Amino acid sequence: MSVRRVTILGATGSVGKAAADLVAGAPERFRTEAVAGGRDAAALAATARRLGARFVAIADPAAYAELKAAAADLDAELAAGPDAVVEAARRPADVVVAAIVGMAGLASTLAACQPGRTVAIANKEALVSAGELVLAKAKAAGTIILPVDSEHSALFQAYEPERAHAVERLTLTASGGPFRDWPKARMAAARVEDALKHPNWSMGAKITIDSATMMNKGLELIEAARLFPAPEERIDVLVHPQSVIHGMVSYRDGSVMAQLGAPDMRTPIAVALAWPDRMAAPVERLDLAKLGGLTFELPDEDRFPALALARAALRAGGDRPAVLNAANEAAVAAFLDRRIGFLEIAAIVSETLSAMPANAADGLQGVLGADAEARRLARQAIGRRAAA
Ligand code: NAD
Ligand code: MG
Repeated sequence: MSVRRVTILGATGSVGKAAADLVAGAPERFRTEAVAGGRDAAALAATARRLGARFVAIADPAAYAELKAAAADLDAELAAGPDAVVEAARRPADVVVAAIVGMAGLASTLAACQPGRTVAIANKEALVSAGELVLAKAKAAGTIILPVDSEHSALFQAYEPERAHAVERLTLTASGGPFRDWPKARMAAARVEDALKHPNWSMGAKITIDSATMMNKGLELIEAARLFPAPEERIDVLVHPQSVIHGMVSYRDGSVMAQLGAPDMRTPIAVALAWPDRMAAPVERLDLAKLGGLTFELPDEDRFPALALARAALRAGGDRPAVLNAANEAAVAAFLDRRIGFLEIAAIVSETLSAMPANAADGLQGVLGADAEARRLARQAIGRRAAA
C-alpha cells in the first residue's frame, strides 16, 4: 500500500477535524501535505503539529501573527489570506478533503481539481452554486470527485455505474432535524439554541441550521443531481428520524440498495479517504436489534418550504441554485446573529429568488455575479425585517 499525501481544507471544522482524526490514526496510509482553516490559528497550528503538515494556510490575514506564534516550532511553511488557502489546495497531494463551509470554499475546491488526484468534497455549497464548473474542471483534469456528505456517500456506495441505465430512483434520507414534529407556530418562535440542537449529528453551525430548515436536504438534492447525475424528478427525500439508512438506490428490477451506518461522519470520510480500499474507522457499530425499528415519513413541505424552493431551483437551473444558496447563506448568518426569526430564513430565500430575474449564470463570473447580487438583495430583505 503506497502512502497517500492528504490535504485538508477547513481542517479546524467539524468535518475537517474528523478527517484529521482518521489521518492521524493511520500513519501507515497517510502523510499530510497541507492544512487550511478560516481564522482559528491555535486550532490550525495544533492540527498541523499533530499531522506533521508541510504547508499551513489561514484565510484571515488578521490571524497570521497568531499562527506564526503558535506554529513557531513547526517545520512547516506558513501563509495567510484567501490566496494561501488556494495555494494549499494546489500543493502536491493524492487526496484533498474540501471541507470549508459555504461559497468561501469554491476557489480552493476548484483549485484542488488537479490531474491524477481525488477530491473528497464536503463543501456542498460549491457543488450547488458551481457544480457544473467543478465537475467540468475535474473531468478535464482527470480528477476523481468523491462525495463526503453522508447521503451522497451512501448513494455512491450503492450505485453501480456500469448499470446506471437501470437506476430508477435515488433516495436521500433526512433526520427531519430538531423541529420535525414542531407545529409551525412554535417553529416561528424557535431560538438559535433550539435550532442548534440537532437530534443525531454533531456538525458546524451553518449546516445545523440548514438541517433545522431542511434547506440542507434541498442543497443535497441539487448536490445529488450534479454528482450522479440524475434528473430532479428521480430524486426523493424521505424523513427517517433514526439516521441509520443514509441513502438508497432503486433499480428497475425492484431492488433497492441501501447503505446503513451509525450517524458518524467518520464513516463517509473514511470511504472517500481510502477508496477503493476500506480503512478501519473507530465509529460505533450498528446494533439493529438494540435499535428495534426504523421509521420513515414524507417531508412536510408546508413547515419546511426550503425543500420546494431547492427543487424548483434545480428544475429551473441557470443561476437559480447559486441564488438560492447565496440568499440562504446570508439568511442563516442573520438568524445566527438573532436578526431574523427562524421561519424568515426560507422567506428571505424565496423573496430573493423572486426579486432576481432568472439568468444563465455563464461560467465562473456568471456564478459569482449571481451569488453577489443574491447576497445584496437578501441583506436588504434582512435589513427590512430586522428594522420592522
Ligand atoms: P464548520 O463550520 O465546522 O467548519 C468550517 C471550516 O471552514 C472551518 O475549518 C473554518 O475555519 C473553515 N472556513 C470558514 N470560512 C473560511 C474561509 N473563508 N476560508 C477558509 N476556510 C474557512 O463546518 P462543517 O460542519 O465542518 O461543514 C463543512 C462543509 O461540509 C459544509 O459545506 C457542510 O455543508 C459540509 N458537511 C458537513 C457535515 C458535518 O457533519 N459537519 C456533513 C455533511 C456535509
Ligand atoms: Mg448530509
